[in-house]
Amino acid sequence: MILQDKVALVTGGASGIGRATAITFGAAGAKVVFSDIRSVEGEETANLIRETGAECLFVKSDVSSEADVRELVQKAIATYGKLDCAFNNAGIDLAVKPLHEQSIEDFDKIMSVNARGLFLCMKYEIQQMLTQGSGAIVNNSSTNGLVALPGISPYVASKHAVMGLTRCAALDYAKQGIRINAVNPGPIATDLMARSAEQMGITFDDLGSMVPMGRIGQATEIAQAVVFLCSDAARYITGQPLAIDGGYTVS
Ligand code: NAD
Repeated sequence: MILQDKVALVTGGASGIGRATAITFGAAGAKVVFSDIRSVEGEETANLIRETGAECLFVKSDVSSEADVRELVQKAIATYGKLDCAFNNAGIDLAVKPLHEQSIEDFDKIMSVNARGLFLCMKYEIQQMLTQGSGAIVNNSSTNGLVALPGISPYVASKHAVMGLTRCAALDYAKQGIRINAVNPGPIATDLMARSAEQMGITFDDLGSMVPMGRIGQATEIAQAVVFLCSDAARYITGQPLAIDGGYTVS
């Protein structure tokens, strides 16, 4: 298996892309540590992983809290002894409206989870990976980290911040055995996208019609790319965005 005997961490693993990736990491041979702020759904993910025969640890943890993130990484090391792969995925979106109607509270909230939280996760993951001299990190940005959409300026800003952090960190550790890349999903069928579509008054089919392939994506289609980027098959790839979007950002 492609990640046999590796230890992989996922944030926001209680649903959607994070859950699919935690399960896919396990199926690829990794021991999985995953976090979320939601306990019930987190335990559901843990059961799904264990049903496949893989080992996992769920930690209730908020990525916007430095104490929580430090403890999450410490628990991964205490349980499985190392950290080979990390998927920094936890993220939120909020109200859909033009910039002048957006509140500073929503801006701060989105940045605290999507940008600050991801920075904190990388900081503590990298501290451990430096002691090992190896590691692979994948950050979950978005096509909104590459191009803009109207009505979601705080979200677009936070996902562009993810790209800046990814590129800079890739250069910081390129000679120290740590690779850092991003995935940039297009519209994917998850709870987050269902909430966004409802706010915009559109359906998944409407979203699919905006994609050259004519459909929205599935969480497993992101998960498989994350596993590839974490594997030795991607050993010469660092600092890159990987758009997984049915061609959405091509034109
Ligand atoms: P989701 O809502 O199904 O999953 C997000 C998970 O993150 C939830 O389980 C949630 O409880 C958790 N979470 C939220 N705040 C957290 C915090 N502070 N600490 C820890 N966990 C927290 O949504 P999803 O669509 O799977 O989104 C996952 C990531 O993918 C997000 O970063 C999102 O921006 C990104 N993304 C999603 C899409 C899409 O179309 N669904 C497209 C591009 C990017």
